[in-house]
Amino acid sequence: MDPAPSPPRLAFRCELAGREFLDFAEVRLTPETSGCELRHGADAGRERSELLVLTVGDLRELAQTTVTGAFRPIKTAPNLRRGWWCRAATEAELEEALDALYPGALTDWWAAGENPAPVQHFREFTGRQTGMYRGIRELSDADAAAVIRAGCAVQFCLRRRVWSVAGLAPDAPDAGKSVIPCLEPCPVLLEFARQGRRLQVDAAMTVALAPGEIATLLHALDRAGDPSTMTSTVREGDLSQPANPRRIRLLRDRLQGLLPVSSSVDAKE
Ligand code: SF4
Repeated sequence: MDPAPSPPRLAFRCELAGREFLDFAEVRLTPETSGCELRHGADAGRERSELLVLTVGDLRELAQTTVTGAFRPIKTAPNLRRGWWCRAATEAELEEALDALYPGALTDWWAAGENPAPVQHFREFTGRQTGMYRGIRELSDADAAAVIRAGCAVQFCLRRRVWSVAGLAPDAPDAGKSVIPCLEPCPVLLEFARQGRRLQVDAAMTVALAPGEIATLLHALDRAGDPSTMTSTVREGDLSQPANPRRIRLLRDRLQGLLPVSSSVDAKE
């Protein structure tokens, strides 16, 4: 028998009621007469017979690695493996399945609807950091915003950021993110901010480039920073690597800002 339903489970029951389906980040949930089907949203039109049948217990392992075997430090990164389906027979199993695929997401989704929501904004969060993360406080608002814009871009994470820093609004509902909220900076973003601060401290070199040369660099960086081409040698969580896609995105945004508006190339979102 199902244990007593948690408040998030009760709220999610209402959210699903009457729907044909609900996309929870990359996972499509289809309520059935008894239970709920889960599969990758990109497999929505495929026959079950074409897909691998997984149990709820298989999902945690599925979420650990990308199709190339690389570890997924952020489970809401848009690189969940495809080609499977799973049935959660009860609401408790559905909660378990969602927690395996997106740890903490259902609770955060529910908490975001509370009044007040337990949101920790960037300055509040980093103000409590000690040790090697203390230096993050030295980032200016503009530099912190640049780090957040790059680190939380939709190409890296589908959580909808509801926290902010001065000069940077939370993610808009139509920003291409998911229904899963992000209530406070995560460890990957924190480490990225630390690396961003370290890069700033190093003496900068002056390089004179024409707008056309910057545009060429932007195109090259777009290709190099595409997470779909990431190899296992460029680990997403290793932000000390110059080839890390978040670092490439940060540099790309910086170069973009140097271009006159008339010749700017829109950032990939
Ligand atoms: S801090 Fe940014 S990267 Fe981390 S979970 Fe939140 S939105 Fe995603």
